[in-house]
Amino acid sequence: MKALWLEDNQISLRDISQPRKLDEALIKIRKAGICSTDLELVKGYYPYTGVLGHEFVGEVVESDDDSWIGQRVVGEINVVCNQCEQCLNGRSTHCENRTVLGIVNRDGTFAEFTTLPLANLHRVPDSVPDEMAVFTEPLAAALEIQQQIQIKPTDRVLLVGAGRLGQLIAQTLSLTGCDLHVVARHGEQQSLLQARGVRVMAEEDLQPWRWDIVIEATGAPSGFALARKAIRPRGTLVMKSTYKGELSVNFSSIVVDEINIVGSRCGPFEPALRLMESHQVDPTVLIADEFKLDQALKAFEHAAEAGMLKVLVEM
Ligand SMILES: [Zn+2]
Ligand SMILES: [Zn+2]
Repeated sequence: MKALWLEDNQISLRDISQPRKLDEALIKIRKAGICSTDLELVKGYYPYTGVLGHEFVGEVVESDDDSWIGQRVVGEINVVCNQCEQCLNGRSTHCENRTVLGIVNRDGTFAEFTTLPLANLHRVPDSVPDEMAVFTEPLAAALEIQQQIQIKPTDRVLLVGAGRLGQLIAQTLSLTGCDLHVVARHGEQQSLLQARGVRVMAEEDLQPWRWDIVIEATGAPSGFALARKAIRPRGTLVMKSTYKGELSVNFSSIVVDEINIVGSRCGPFEPALRLMESHQVDPTVLIADEFKLDQALKAFEHAAEAGMLKVLVEM
């Protein structure tokens, strides 16, 4: 089958053999999304060799359990052991033996087929089309913030960064009724937010030490610096980005200001599907372009442009 392969910071289209794993469902990929993590992997944020891609919607074509065959599905990306200390204590996304779809020791979804255990799969409601379902994984990641911290309607919340993930975070946070402002650099990012009634703020107008909760979603050290400046003493800083290399931080000032820092990664799929089914969140406004799998190299080039929103690959 055809697949987009990453090796030594180079992506290429390859013919590889169709995956087959005992105890896992074979999934025919319908659409997959390019995310910042994919672009970071190409740049070398984490050493990975294999098929890229972890945001997808597909159809189960082979499974031990017949009831799944022909079902349209999305899939959680962490494949876990259910036996380690983390798994046994309800922290299975932190499984010590995990593989991660298209990221750690597991071929991903820019391919005709992939495999995942049934436990990772969620059926997609009929009313949620492919171009919406493909956003389930990043939307779940956006919702993880609300799994971790309470956001009150009286909270002043600042989101720094309005790219692919930032837009989804903004859509989910605006449902909380909080006083939300977003620092967005690019014109298109700003107009998407304004169309949903979300207030956009220029970097220059940002008041320091004012915000109860600040969410960093730029993936850039400059975004972190801005978020750090904005947070009030005893405020909560939510880190939603990974950074290539090391981030330089003045931790003494964080101690003095008694800042809470919360790292935030993968989130719950069922609420993400429910919010799309009920049209409370509409990620399809983020779609900038779509390419066929044999044009995947072009799709990646396009996705890497500054300010680019979601680029999809169709199989
Ligand atoms: Zn992603
Ligand atoms: Zn485990």
